[in-house]
Amino acid sequence: MMNYNIAVIRGDGIGPEIVKEAIKALNVAAKRFGFALNYHEVLMGGCAIDATGVPLPEETIRVCKASSAVLLGAVGGPKWETLPGHLRPEAGLLGIRSALGLYANLRPAVLFDPLKDACPLKAEIVQNGLDILMVRELTGGIYFGERGRSKGERGEEAYDTERYSVMEVERIGRIGFEAAKRRSGKLTSVDKANVLESSRLWRETMHRLAKEYPEVAYDDMLVDNAAMQLVRNPARFDVVVTSNMFGDILSDEASMITGSIGMLPSASLGDGTLGLYEPIHGSAPDIAGTGSANPLATILSCAMLLRYSLNQQEAANAIERAVQLALEEGWRTADIAAGKESIGTQQMGDIVCRLIETA
Ligand code: NAD
Repeated sequence: MMNYNIAVIRGDGIGPEIVKEAIKALNVAAKRFGFALNYHEVLMGGCAIDATGVPLPEETIRVCKASSAVLLGAVGGPKWETLPGHLRPEAGLLGIRSALGLYANLRPAVLFDPLKDACPLKAEIVQNGLDILMVRELTGGIYFGERGRSKGERGEEAYDTERYSVMEVERIGRIGFEAAKRRSGKLTSVDKANVLESSRLWRETMHRLAKEYPEVAYDDMLVDNAAMQLVRNPARFDVVVTSNMFGDILSDEASMITGSIGMLPSASLGDGTLGLYEPIHGSAPDIAGTGSANPLATILSCAMLLRYSLNQQEAANAIERAVQLALEEGWRTADIAAGKESIGTQQMGDIVCRLIETA
């Protein structure tokens, strides 16, 4: 029987509540599909600051590196917001991604049919559904380039530098092409090649890569047009690959048009199979401890974990089908209930677990 080590970071706020349900779902899937999971709990974020004085203890990095995958709830909260930057919970997040060499962020933006009404776009625009995979470069570009301030002729100035190497574009580009191969075979690369030199290098590199993937229908799009097409004709996209900053903005736009932040998972990947899986939402301190958080984004993150890190495709599919079925049966947590009757975190977890057994 295959046996995997999973590092678990419950985190802060609703983190522990949603991770509990996600682990229940993983265990049901493991039992049904015949593999074993060993969980190793580690600290990161606010709870790590309280216990050890730092947001990312060395022990956490060691355990994560020795695992097949990392499952994360969410970190942060008002209690730690006044600490200096390097001691804030978010520093743990950036630190773990960099310690594990995770340079690709994959965010599916899916409009679940039973939740169509939550989509802020007109019905005719999303009549064919919405199922986009955003692939964002995570460790390069302007967020990591040289920056500074100086006194210029017009007074104080500040600058940030967008810099990409061929190697960085190639490795994120390959993740995009490989993802497109597994899906409907369509990849759009988003850049600003009409203005930026870094985007011209990005585009040249992507064109070279495209020759290696003749089975993928490839196109380029300027970022301003991409922002517009996402709300005008989102169905034209399948996989989108883009730089750190453009991806930051476009992936939030794509997730907002699905209408439900509590439903969206994410994966951060590097060169090997080790990945970090977490919901896209934060620690929701406003509802922490009320038992009302939606656990589905974290449960769907487990499906990504099974697919990308453990290569347990059937188990991943079963979890995704179970979530779909739970929605079709009409079960809703408060965030997606549109004011109608709702159930709590644990009850939603129980329902999905029941459905994983047969989905
Ligand atoms: P948030 O995503 O935590 O919450 C935004 C709104 O969405 C809140 O009203 C919240 O109640 C609701 N919400 C979020 N997830 C939900 C769920 N699963 N079920 C039901 N409702 C849900 O964003 P925020 O309020 O801006 O940030 C709160 C804290 O989380 C901050 O400390 C922030 O730094 C941190 N944060 C962490 C991560 C992460 O760990 N990756 C990401 C974003 C924000």
